[in-house]
Amino acid sequence: MMAEPVDSLLAAVPMPLLLVGQDQRLLGANLPAQALFGAIEPGRPLVTVIRTPALLEALDTVLAGGGPVETRILRTGALQDISYLVRVSAVEGLGRRAALVALTDTTDIEKVEEMRRDFVANVSHELRTPLTALMGFIETLTGPARNDPAARDRFLGIMGREAQRMNRLVRDLLSLSRVEQEERMRPGERIDLVALLRAAIAALRPVSEAAGVEIEVLGGEAPIALPADSDQMSQVFSNLIENAVKYGGAGRKVTIEITRDARDPGLRGPAVCFAVVDRGEGIEAIHLPRLTERFYRVDAHRSREKGGTGLGLAIVKHILNRHRGRLKIESTRGIGSRFTVILPDM
Ligand code: ADP
Repeated sequence: MMAEPVDSLLAAVPMPLLLVGQDQRLLGANLPAQALFGAIEPGRPLVTVIRTPALLEALDTVLAGGGPVETRILRTGALQDISYLVRVSAVEGLGRRAALVALTDTTDIEKVEEMRRDFVANVSHELRTPLTALMGFIETLTGPARNDPAARDRFLGIMGREAQRMNRLVRDLLSLSRVEQEERMRPGERIDLVALLRAAIAALRPVSEAAGVEIEVLGGEAPIALPADSDQMSQVFSNLIENAVKYGGAGRKVTIEITRDARDPGLRGPAVCFAVVDRGEGIEAIHLPRLTERFYRVDAHRSREKGGTGLGLAIVKHILNRHRGRLKIESTRGIGSRFTVILPDM
């Protein structure tokens, strides 16, 4: 083994480290490295520990006097592949040249990067569809349909709807980014959520009446005042009720049940529950865990047709996170769905 100061230096660093001598044999490895590669006896050739050609090449470069060199390796983990950024740099002053191999787990960073890329791709796609339609109609209206008043009225109607769709999307994106920004700030003011819910139902009356849907409220005789952001909680209620009306089926009833629960297993304490229950076609179980992902829709065509952006439930989830609450989704095909807002009762 190496001289003691080197060993204790390796041991003090939390990231996996391997020290390799001029002969490409290991001089030392700290505990995080051993956790990764198994017990490593000194003197063992590095190639028997890591076989990645790019890393061995980097080691050659550094031991020949070059470097530092960065490369990546991928290890198969129990649940997922783990990617590491590996930095190989020269260490002088140990009598002869040695190379230090330092590994940083970049799996989470890469996942976030991938989510960001997907998000940008989704937003672009969602915006491009109505934009393409608008551009097409503008071309037709300035060209072939220039002197056709009937066509003009019809096209302007469609253009108006497409523009509204873009407007809704931008509104939801802004609202999502605002909610994300504030996610760490606890709401302070106490608000009566029952009154807020009733106001949301009243505001949606034109929509529910147009669909012939009656909204009934069970419970909630007394006010329930909790620390909450009133704009955001209004948005939670209206997103869920609007979905229940949209997907619950025209002419069917939507029920909102307000209850207090002495102990919610998820929140590990007393809770207030607002369940929005519809009698629509329901959602298959495989979709349930993904419904709150941005742009996830069971039927994208149907959602767009109904003016959906695919962001409503993502916004709901973020708002409830900020309120330390959660959203529970239960659904049975052919019977209906139940979306329950569960908030800590404090
Ligand atoms: P959208 O704007 O598409 O409605 P949401 O985030 O609000 O976006 O909902 C995501 C998807 O979840 C919807 O596209 C729909 O497939 C499904 N969904 C939401 N609420 C209901 C419901 N009450 N009944 C059936 N499906 C629903």
